[in-house]
Amino acid sequence: MIILEENYWKEIDAFKNVDKENWENWKWQIANRLTALEEISKIFPVSDKLKEAFLKTTEIFHFGTTPYYLSLIKEFSYDNPIFRQIFPSLDEIDEEKQKHSYEDPFLEDTLSPVSGLTHRYPDRVLMRATNFCSVYCRHCMRKRMFLEEERARTKEEYEKMFQYIRENKQIKEVLISGGDPLTLPNKKIEYILKNLYEIEHLDIIRIGSRELVVNPYRFFDEGLLEIFYKYDKVWLVTHFNHPDEITNITKKAVKNILSTGTPVLNQTVLMKGINDSKETIETLMRSLLKVKIKPYYLFYCDPVKGTLHFRTDIKKGVEILEHLRGRVSGLATPIYAVDLENGLGKVPVFPNYIVEEAEDYIIFRNYEGRTVKQRR
Ligand code: SF4
Repeated sequence: MIILEENYWKEIDAFKNVDKENWENWKWQIANRLTALEEISKIFPVSDKLKEAFLKTTEIFHFGTTPYYLSLIKEFSYDNPIFRQIFPSLDEIDEEKQKHSYEDPFLEDTLSPVSGLTHRYPDRVLMRATNFCSVYCRHCMRKRMFLEEERARTKEEYEKMFQYIRENKQIKEVLISGGDPLTLPNKKIEYILKNLYEIEHLDIIRIGSRELVVNPYRFFDEGLLEIFYKYDKVWLVTHFNHPDEITNITKKAVKNILSTGTPVLNQTVLMKGINDSKETIETLMRSLLKVKIKPYYLFYCDPVKGTLHFRTDIKKGVEILEHLRGRVSGLATPIYAVDLENGLGKVPVFPNYIVEEAEDYIIFRNYEGRTVKQRR
């Protein structure tokens, strides 16, 4: 866990005059997002190469970051795992590198009975509440929304989504995602949660948000915490990809969330040059548990247009899981999953611990490679 000192942001020249009240206010963080090259140039000297990458790439895929997330970068180069997640790269628009990628590989927009809602599994639906995020992650699996104009849903669109869920009683769980739904004002969040909460056949309302990573001050907002407490079907799923993203501020924010009775889980995407090593993932999983976030999924990077350069070999995740098994507690071990193209759903991928199978026995191997023959 990274310990940020008191007034840590004042070390950065561009933020040295920002007072504590503003810096620690989530709305200030969003209102003061950096979106243009001129703003970034005030933080660090941008080389001609980076300038070219920024300007050419943002013609297609836009850029944005909170001052908080930017302040976690230790070195302004693609070698830094946070920089690499937010700074545009020419690889995103390199046709050769993006060959065999798709804007919507999981057919979210096709499997959509009403606008903004995807119904892929019988008992679950996905609601896209907004296409706005306080940080635009270069690896986003909904990168197609970078091409849209930033906007929240209209009331009419929401009402249609609620109606669809009311009418389909087999739906037990709603995932509210985006964009980032927690960038919406509390009033809008309460409106969505209240409507879903009142649908009796819903057991779980899952919110997918990266605010805990990029703007943890969101969870110092008493109003939001009260909403979480009141609508107690809520689970929060967040998205940490590297240990450098976990700070003492994260820890405080998680404590606030847990105090409302809301569980916090994490999904990580396995990405080349960011976290594709056994040691990094092990440290990340241990760090998540230290701040009481349960590692849930480790995802193979999806074939989304503009993100393919982050892809590792599919076996990389299996190797990492194999490394974790026996070294870290089961609590720290996520499910490694591949999302199948054409909307066919996620499949978990495991290391194989069965060496041989016969009618009356199975030979297993353990994490050290030792084998044992067990009767069936
Ligand atoms: S915060 Fe989430 S939805 Fe927004 S760009 Fe990042 S990964 Fe995509």
